[in-house]
Amino acid sequence: MSASLPDLHTNPLDPADAAGALPDQPPTVRPHSLWRAMARGVVGRCPRCGQGRLFRAFLKPVDRCGRCDQDWSLQRADDFPAYASLFITGHLVAPLAVHLARDASISSAMASAIILPITAALAIGLLQPCKGAIIAVQWRMGMHGFQRDPSADDDATP
Ligand SMILES: [Zn+2]
Repeated sequence: MSASLPDLHTNPLDPADAAGALPDQPPTVRPHSLWRAMARGVVGRCPRCGQGRLFRAFLKPVDRCGRCDQDWSLQRADDFPAYASLFITGHLVAPLAVHLARDASISSAMASAIILPITAALAIGLLQPCKGAIIAVQWRMGMHGFQRDPSADDDATP
């Protein structure tokens, strides 16, 4: 009796994976919704195929996807990931800061010791996901050097 191992390269909730795409086969170009492309970018995967890596270093995107050969050197995220990261961090940390400031039993030094590491961790930790999402938006919208894929116009299609 042989037990088959689960395929860890596919996401059973992803309709494209559930359709039977094998991880060793080259990915096919298929329409993407903007949200799916962004979700792939957030987790550091190629927004086009979802299988290749998007980053070769913390904030350095690969020049080309190793799976679908999409040219990612055309992206121009520039400083926007930092702005987005700080925007999100501020909205997450501000309620905590207000709460700690209102609590009379916590000194300002203690409040700072709580808030500053959380702020730094969030601001740095959100940089790569924000950059991945922004690259995905640029690619999906055909911005900068990216050519818009006319087959990707239907957002309702998975
Ligand atoms: Zn790819």
